[in-house]
Amino acid sequence: MQDSAQKIVVVTGGTRGIGKAIVEVFADAGCTVIVNYNKSRGEAEALALNLSSASGSVFIEQADVSEASQARIMMDNAVSRFGRIDVLVNNAGIARDGFLMLMSDEDWQDVIATNLTGVFNCSRAATVHMISRRSGAIINVSSLSGIAGLPGQTNYAAAKGGVISFTKALSKELAPFGIRVNAVAPGVIETGMTGAVSEKAMEGYLSAIPMKRFGKPHEVATVVRFLASEDASYITGETICVTGGLY
Ligand code: NDP
Repeated sequence: MQDSAQKIVVVTGGTRGIGKAIVEVFADAGCTVIVNYNKSRGEAEALALNLSSASGSVFIEQADVSEASQARIMMDNAVSRFGRIDVLVNNAGIARDGFLMLMSDEDWQDVIATNLTGVFNCSRAATVHMISRRSGAIINVSSLSGIAGLPGQTNYAAAKGGVISFTKALSKELAPFGIRVNAVAPGVIETGMTGAVSEKAMEGYLSAIPMKRFGKPHEVATVVRFLASEDASYITGETICVTGGLY
């Protein structure tokens, strides 16, 4: 990433899986990365330690993105400490799969609160700072489920589909201020989240993927890095699928 040195990047849910890979590519590119976590302090600390020899700097920040006040404090802290936010990656997400008839209110609300309201909370809190500088990039991690819909994921698909529509609307709102807003829609990526999916379901996904393999977190992270870079300077409101040809 040629233009990344000195960039201030906030990655929500950056402790493991796709978020961790995103943190790594930005840190390796010389950025200052604020790694957000909610519950996994140990994983966040270990990541920061592991990346202490990277070209960039890594700092950790606890916040539950589903809580507006915590998202606001996290962004304000980043600006107080580093002067600005250049890139926000809204990656934090959870899945609580289940057929609709059996889905609890809690499983619906938790997934919407983290995956959709969390994107709203963090984007709103970061945008306040980006607008005054007339520059910035926001990248939202959606999902193939948000485009195609997958059975057992009405809550998750609704949230991730909402993220794509949110991305389109916000991109138009912020384009006059020099801020780009894009999304990535990963397919099936090997992380702890997919580790919870049954072997039978994973076999079904594998047979449907034209590339006949699951994706790796790094393969999503490099697309996020591209969207944050000047190489993507004329791209906004877009969702890039990273699905091995599944969509
Ligand atoms: P993981 O379960 O491996 O990691 C999720 C991350 O989100 C953790 O760092 C977790 O931190 C954080 N997180 C969860 N809730 C909150 C919260 N309320 N506030 C702050 N952080 C939170 O997930 P993946 O790496 O697999 O997924 C990352 C993103 O990619 C998600 O948005 C997911 O929906 C999306 N995605 C994943 C796919 C896949 O196949 N893996 C496919 C398509 C999309 P903590 O433990 O501290 O809570």
